[in-house]
Amino acid sequence: MPFLCKAAVADGHGSFTIETIEVGSPAADEALVQVKAAGLCHTDYDSLSWGKPIIMGHEGAGIIQQVGSQVKHFAEGDEVIFNWATPCGTCFQCQIGNPHICEQNSPVVAGGNGYTPGHAHLEGTLWQGKPIERSFNLGTLSEYTLVKTSALVEIREPMPFPAASIISCGVMTGYGSVVNAAQVKAGSSVVVLGAGGVGLNVIQGARNIRCCQNHCHRYPCRQAGDGQAVWCYAYPISRQRGPGTDESCRAGKRNDRWERGRLCV
Ligand SMILES: [Zn+2]
Ligand SMILES: [Zn+2]
Repeated sequence: MPFLCKAAVADGHGSFTIETIEVGSPAADEALVQVKAAGLCHTDYDSLSWGKPIIMGHEGAGIIQQVGSQVKHFAEGDEVIFNWATPCGTCFQCQIGNPHICEQNSPVVAGGNGYTPGHAHLEGTLWQGKPIERSFNLGTLSEYTLVKTSALVEIREPMPFPAASIISCGVMTGYGSVVNAAQVKAGSSVVVLGAGGVGLNVIQGARNIRCCQNHCHRYPCRQAGDGQAVWCYAYPISRQRGPGTDESCRAGKRNDRWERGRLCV
């Protein structure tokens, strides 16, 4: 049965309001999830200006309320983390083991900020009587959301929902960039430009593989010349060489960090 709840709706032109939306039952391969916590990153700010109304939010965690008729691996009451890198399982990239860059479903790879087959059925969520898209196929800044079950990961260890929610984007993006994408080795030095949700988790990932050891330094903006810069040195040799780091990770919205990151290597 459709019911009413609250959601943050971007107007497409730089602003948002809290609106009442109508949420229906899940389709065969979908789940209805009560969102218990949601995080924010700069993409949410970007989503204010995507030129169309959209339910905001792309990281979060919650409890499944209802599953579709063909869903076998999830059930009502399961605690889950949302995953916007939703795999289709059949495209070239999914087949060769890269489900995170699915060519069919990823809102980044396949559709920019657009609607892809990874989105739950549009008609399941109405605003002002019309179907409305959910950011990154999720729309976690809402009390309830309909998603494909391929966009859910079960929480297997007891964990507070606010902590679980940031795994959904900031942790997987930051940790994955240093551990999987850059494949930084122990003993390397890493410069992280931008210390928000993603950047902090680049540092977490670097620490886990013993890049930073005990030589992490947080510079205030006056010294680093950047309000959000964090530099993690592995060894004093990095300082003797000036920048001279093995890897640099840009984690933030500002495009000039690409160039500054490149100059650090
Ligand atoms: Zn795929
Ligand atoms: Zn994000």
